[in-house]
Amino acid sequence: MDYDVIIVGSGAGGGSVALQLAKAGKRVLIIERGRLFTDPEIGQNEKSMLIERIAHDDRQIEINGRNARLFVSGIVGGGTSIYGAALLRPSPDDFHPGKHYSKHLPDYLCDWPIDYETLRPYYDQAEDLYHVAGNHQAAPPHIASREIPYSQLPPNLEPINQRLSQSLIDQGIQPFHLPLGIDWNICLRCPTCPGYGCPNESRASSWKCCIRPAIEKHGAEIWTETEALQLQLGENGQVQSLQVLRSQTREKVEITAKLYILSAGAVSSPHLLQRSGIKDRSDELGRNYMYHAGALAVGFFKRPTSAAERFIKQLGWTDDYFGTPSFEHKLGYFQALPIPGPLSIKSEAPFPVPLSAAKFLHARSMAFAGAVEDLPRRDNRVSVARDGQMRLTHRFHSYDIFRARFILKRLQKFLKKAGAVIVAGATAEKDDLHTAHQVGTCRFGNDPEKSVLDPNCRLHGVENLYVIDGSFMPTSLGVGPALTIIANSLRVSDHIIKEVL
Ligand SMILES: Cc1cc2nc3c(=O)[nH]c(=O)nc-3n(C[C@H](O)[C@H](O)[C@H](O)COP(=O)(O)OP(=O)(O)OC[C@H]3O[C@@H](n4cnc5c(N)ncnc54)[C@H](O)[C@@H]3O)c2cc1C
Ligand code: SF4
Repeated sequence: MDYDVIIVGSGAGGGSVALQLAKAGKRVLIIERGRLFTDPEIGQNEKSMLIERIAHDDRQIEINGRNARLFVSGIVGGGTSIYGAALLRPSPDDFHPGKHYSKHLPDYLCDWPIDYETLRPYYDQAEDLYHVAGNHQAAPPHIASREIPYSQLPPNLEPINQRLSQSLIDQGIQPFHLPLGIDWNICLRCPTCPGYGCPNESRASSWKCCIRPAIEKHGAEIWTETEALQLQLGENGQVQSLQVLRSQTREKVEITAKLYILSAGAVSSPHLLQRSGIKDRSDELGRNYMYHAGALAVGFFKRPTSAAERFIKQLGWTDDYFGTPSFEHKLGYFQALPIPGPLSIKSEAPFPVPLSAAKFLHARSMAFAGAVEDLPRRDNRVSVARDGQMRLTHRFHSYDIFRARFILKRLQKFLKKAGAVIVAGATAEKDDLHTAHQVGTCRFGNDPEKSVLDPNCRLHGVENLYVIDGSFMPTSLGVGPALTIIANSLRVSDHIIKEVL
């Protein structure tokens, strides 16, 4: 065998398992389709990052019947190289979706095969690995929180966030400092953070926290600009090799390992399995694609909010996680965040806006976003198109849209009460470009008739094949998925080290 382990994908899931296995002395090779993206000027350029989306996957695929680019990150570090780094724990109830959605889910989806207590120590480890800054004493309502101090405290709120925080408190909400994977000792407090490249690696990414140490300290290897094409199965039903394409030379190479781990994200991992002719008994492979419904409300204030000058993504709140007294439906977390820049305002506005006006508005803007835990639907799926490329089909459940519309109104009300003079916004129901939070397409479970992976994320029936990324989640949680993907990757790494390799 060329390696002990080959890991496809260097994002949130792939990075943590690569580091753990390399630390344990295993010969690890990471295959990554994207390149290492380090140019600080391009990384901070709105046109390149948010309009041309040069850090995103460059493939044209079929999305809901039309050709479009898939806006998931396609560089070393995956989503963690451009994400917002809000690393929250979910509610323990999120592991028992039947408590809130029993009318909408079959019995076998009412409980995850593991509960929060199983993952709890791995959340601690994940927060340490991604040097999350937070205040463990200010436990947010409904979601789980850390019981021991974080490695850093968050910095003081910017004046705009002090005002917003007070306004939310006046409206009966308990806002808290978002736990962020940012090293505040060196952070430059740029207004251009989520969606952009970090100029000095203050933001915790899989490259910084996992892949680079795995290579430099523990002898792992990475092949960048290399696409995993196909797994070859032997007659014994086990994976025998992986075929990859090295983009620079157009050379196809066959590599072998004792163990194969797919961490290519919830869109690419099932596609790679399907393209390799691997079938699951449950017929759930590639299905149940979720990426959070929800809403984004934008407020424009009379005075500058400092959105154009400072880092303002600081506040979160979870009071409405399980709904409100007048709307008893599970929702998710809310956060304040910046509009990425004036060009984004220009491109999203329903009418032509001159750049000068977009700059004026951007400087006075603040957005509130809310997540809705979207429900798994079998018809929402990744499949293989005739040319071998990916095909995505997705439509939100009517219950998701119902809840997202409620959130939009609620967020707009919060903004108005906080002094916004104009409010706008949209729900995620029209977005079929699938930008973030993809999960669900290879869900784990005890029953091979109902799930793709076993509780340790091994493909049912294929001893030497694991999927360790966002695909494993049976439901999408009410918070961003990154911390749970990292924690689960650390859990499965322990299992592999103790019981497999
Ligand atoms: C702008 C943005 C902001 C976000 N903010 C947050 C946030 O604040 N909090 C939060 O919790 N989550 C956030 N997310 C989501 C989070 O980043 C993702 O949930 C997480 O990174 C998913 O991890 P993953 O391991 O499943 O896949 P990814 O991190 O997407 O990694 C998959 C990797 O596999 C590579 N790959 C794909 N196919 C192949 C192939 N065939 N061969 C080789 N390599 C391949 C890709 O290039 C990629 O590097 C954000 C995402 C984005 C895009
Ligand atoms: S605000 Fe800090 S973490 Fe974000 S991009 Fe700037 S330096 Fe990096």
